[in-house]
Amino acid sequence: MKLTIGYIFMSILIFASSGFAAEKKMKIHILATGGTIAGAQMKAGEYGYKSGTFKVEDLIAAVPNMGDLATLSGEQVANIGSQDMSDEVWLKLAKRVNEVLKSDADGVVITHGTDTMEETAFFLNLVVKSDKPVVLVGSMRPATAISADGPGNLYNAVAVAASPGAKKRGVLVVMNDEIHQARAVEKMNTTNVETFHSPERGPEGYINTGKIAWFETSSKKHTSGSEFAGASPKSLPRVDIIYAHSNMSPDLIESAVKSGAKGIVVAGVGDGNMNQASLTILERLQKKNGLLVIRSTRLPTGLVLRNNEVDDDKAGFVASGEFNPAKSRVLAQLALTKTSDPKKVQEMFEKY
Ligand code: ASP
Repeated sequence: MKLTIGYIFMSILIFASSGFAAEKKMKIHILATGGTIAGAQMKAGEYGYKSGTFKVEDLIAAVPNMGDLATLSGEQVANIGSQDMSDEVWLKLAKRVNEVLKSDADGVVITHGTDTMEETAFFLNLVVKSDKPVVLVGSMRPATAISADGPGNLYNAVAVAASPGAKKRGVLVVMNDEIHQARAVEKMNTTNVETFHSPERGPEGYINTGKIAWFETSSKKHTSGSEFAGASPKSLPRVDIIYAHSNMSPDLIESAVKSGAKGIVVAGVGDGNMNQASLTILERLQKKNGLLVIRSTRLPTGLVLRNNEVDDDKAGFVASGEFNPAKSRVLAQLALTKTSDPKKVQEMFEKY
């Protein structure tokens, strides 16, 4: 009897020390929203296609060996081209991600169109209340294309979501053998598969056929560390982006505010600059209506510095720092659910 108990005890020890716990099969839930990854052409090799044609079951079935990486389940949240992404879908998606991560799921993969992927990723990076991995993935070629990139990207995304190393890194984007952080990543080429880059910070890691090399992560706050984590407002305040250029007319600014914008992001020239007429009107609307004004840049790289050529302290403006106009808009929308005080919003732009 003693011998049997001792034998069982020894077996458990050997079993545990053999790394069984580390090799437990993860449960990954795939939330599909559409995009080119679910897109179909009329004929393979033909130019032109329709985003959001295939369903989540088709996407999973197209990569049979993905089941070796994790126990998979799937759900359709939307089936749209991400050019049609809206606050409504964001709020629905965020709610579902938070619900799924509260269950026994170990991570979530979201299939998404690439056009606005960086915005959805950053939104989720601020509202997901969990340290479990959340990974967005898409493709540049439709599912029916010759050399479609979707299946490989999806396989890698599941591998990342199932990796213990992905925990506490915030929301990630996996495309073209690279892993990027939601706050840093941008789509930079209209059609090339090598379109996603993090121009200021570089990738968060590399992945090749499921094998991952992680790099250092940033110390910026996200997910459970965000003051917006778990927030589920019914709607988000309207924030518009205005593109600066030579001979810029301030009419669009006034029109946006008249139409209900509570915040304006200017995709400024250079270091977030714009002509004097636009500065004057924005300062007036800030002082009179409490309009939240964010100065970002239309340039692909560089930080927008505070109080450089524009006196932000006097005007009551926020400088976007690392954030491009699209990302600035996401943070401004969430910020406005709490405050329109430019000093507090500036702190958020530094913190996240
Ligand atoms: N227009 C598509 C979308 O964003 C492009 C893509 O998915 O690559 O849904």
